[in-house]
Amino acid sequence: MKILLVRPPVPKHTIGLKHIMICEPLELEYIAGDLLDHEVEIFDHLVEKNFKKRFQQFDPDIVVSSCYKTGTNEVIKLFRKVKTWDIECITIAGGVHATLNPEDFADSSVDIIGIGDGTFLLREIVNTLIQKKNILNVNNVAIPIGEKQIVKSKSSPYMPHPNELPLPRRDLVQHLLPKYYYLMHKPVATIKTTWGCWYKCNFCFTWKITDGSAFSRSPESIVKELLTLKAKEVYIVDDIFLINKSRLRKLADLIIKHNIKKNYLCYARADFIVENEDVIKEWAELGLTAVFIGLEAVTAAELDSMDKNMPVDYNYKAVEILNKYKIDTYGSLIPGPEYEQEDWDRLWDFIEATKLYYVNISPATPLPGAKNYNQFKDQLTVPEDAHGLFDLSHQILPTKMSLKDYYRQLLRLYSRTILNLNRANNYTHRTLPSIWDISYWRMLVGSMKIGWQFMNAHKHHSKKEIAIARYKGKIVKGLSYKTKMKHPSFESIFDQQSTTKTA
Ligand code: SF4
Repeated sequence: MKILLVRPPVPKHTIGLKHIMICEPLELEYIAGDLLDHEVEIFDHLVEKNFKKRFQQFDPDIVVSSCYKTGTNEVIKLFRKVKTWDIECITIAGGVHATLNPEDFADSSVDIIGIGDGTFLLREIVNTLIQKKNILNVNNVAIPIGEKQIVKSKSSPYMPHPNELPLPRRDLVQHLLPKYYYLMHKPVATIKTTWGCWYKCNFCFTWKITDGSAFSRSPESIVKELLTLKAKEVYIVDDIFLINKSRLRKLADLIIKHNIKKNYLCYARADFIVENEDVIKEWAELGLTAVFIGLEAVTAAELDSMDKNMPVDYNYKAVEILNKYKIDTYGSLIPGPEYEQEDWDRLWDFIEATKLYYVNISPATPLPGAKNYNQFKDQLTVPEDAHGLFDLSHQILPTKMSLKDYYRQLLRLYSRTILNLNRANNYTHRTLPSIWDISYWRMLVGSMKIGWQFMNAHKHHSKKEIAIARYKGKIVKGLSYKTKMKHPSFESIFDQQSTTKTA
């Protein structure tokens, strides 16, 4: 079979990480790793143009795409185009949002929705299609049969043991490597060593996807992959990498044994950093360059309201420890919709006191699938299918300040923190490039583009812009939910009893 794996474009309104970071499409590379018997290509819409030409040249039997919530309408738009060009091409949607909210992909252009990790699932789906067997014999799939209506097959655990996963097919995007970067880390490879999380923060769906379990690869399997990487910069994309002390120790021993010299960028919680300074010291010597911390807030009441389960002073101590070992902190903060001037000032005081330079300021966003979603669902100020606005940059709950003022405060906090050369020079350790380096200017230009988007973010809430955000592409003539029944694998779908209907 010819299978085209597509990373969808970023929606118009989504505020711009693409301006400062575009990493390889790791999830698609993983899927490709288990499709060695097939002809597979990756089309990365973030860095490639002319999808139609590529589609027509490759002429795939199957098109697969995966996304977070923000990309849902983009995937549907892509699939509607695919069906316009070739109504018999099978389309498969997957990813974390499809896993938690498959009904959002109930569109006549979507043939199959994959639920859970897609690496082995896709091979099973493809084999079932080739053998023309009933698609619902495959666990963890959903089939759209009407608007917001799906039929689901039996469910099984989110994923197999991660040590069994193939290595990602980086060779498929080899020609695009010069286009991938993460802030000033370039060239950069991404690796994943754990799926899920051990904690239960109520705004986060990571632990919900895997039913509260975390799946971790062994140190041996991680080193096997590290040895294949050419890039010196390695971005470990786990939601938490610094967590299991004995695993980290063993991994450190293996890295030393194999004389692997890399720079690492990873995620950690503040409590681990504070309670395990010896690990931080050891990893600083191994090449730990920067650590993302979900600091979230600077008051105990806010942290408690998020079920963060951590004393607030740990946020200060964690940044202090990273500074001590000359590791840069990428700190993430979550301003609430109720924020007024004094709250923004308090965030700035924290940033100044901790000498933070790199910050990510993400307005509190209720995400379907997260534990707190139902609490806020009825207060949303944008429709649930304006997916591009659920980007952790728009404020989609009612604010006390005017929306314009809210975004201006956010922008001001960013500017005071990042656009200050003294802070850049004095408060960074291993990551700030020279002013003569192209990555410095790329980051600066990218930050300005994001700033421009925030300047105009309040306008994204207008009726006209919301309609654009909800747009799913042109209706395809002659396409219905039953069109897929021409393929024998779908013949009995509409007789199934296990229909899931959502309001
Ligand atoms: S926010 Fe971080 S620590 Fe909390 S559940 Fe999500 S991934 Fe885990």
